Amino acid sequence: GVRVGVLALQGDVREHAEALRAVGAVPVPVRRASELASVDGLILPGGESTAIAHLLRVFELMEPLRAAIADGLPVLGTCAGMILLSDTIADPAVVRGREQESIGGLGVTVRRNAFGRQVDSFEQDLELAAWGASLPGPSSVRAVFIRAPRIEEVGEGVSVLATVDGHPVAVAQGHLVATSFHPESAGETALHSWLAAAAGERAAGRVA
Ligand code: GLN
Repeated sequence: GVRVGVLALQGDVREHAEALRAVGAVPVPVRRASELASVDGLILPGGESTAIAHLLRVFELMEPLRAAIADGLPVLGTCAGMILLSDTIADPAVVRGREQESIGGLGVTVRRNAFGRQVDSFEQDLELAAWGASLPGPSSVRAVFIRAPRIEEVGEGVSVLATVDGHPVAVAQGHLVATSFHPESAGETALHSWLAAAAGERAAGRVA
């Protein structure tokens, strides 16, 4: 099976690894640049984006990740992972005088915790539009939102795959897909299938 990394600094790493196994991929925990270099796709999991961004600096992964994304590495970012993948954070946290950083690559502006306190968490069925040959659609997915971010602006070349109350909650741009929600918490694997297929294509291109 194709090797797909899961950034394993903080967050729901185990659930994503299980979803990858379910679609026949080999999950690889990524904590260092050498591990990143060994995979053909990557998941940025949910968790706490400020903590993950801080650890990306500590583990010296920020620049290798930016380079890998610029080089076409297929990436799925979920929840905090979507925040990390976004070019602009509307309301970055300020930790010890420094604004929270994102990795970037995805041409959107995201707002953290945007669905409000009284509805910190909710679940709903969503219609997900197709993306490429390996994410056929529209497909119905059970989406789990936990202190979820929301996309406020979508740049050129970014496709909206699903919305809630008119706000994009799943977007795609070339080799990048991001969701406000946690597909892995509900056992959804459609997005993991897409990622495994995209990673398979990249692996084939590397050998050729
Ligand atoms: N609110 C979190 C953040 O800002 C994201 C929550 C999640 O990943 N479930 O990083």
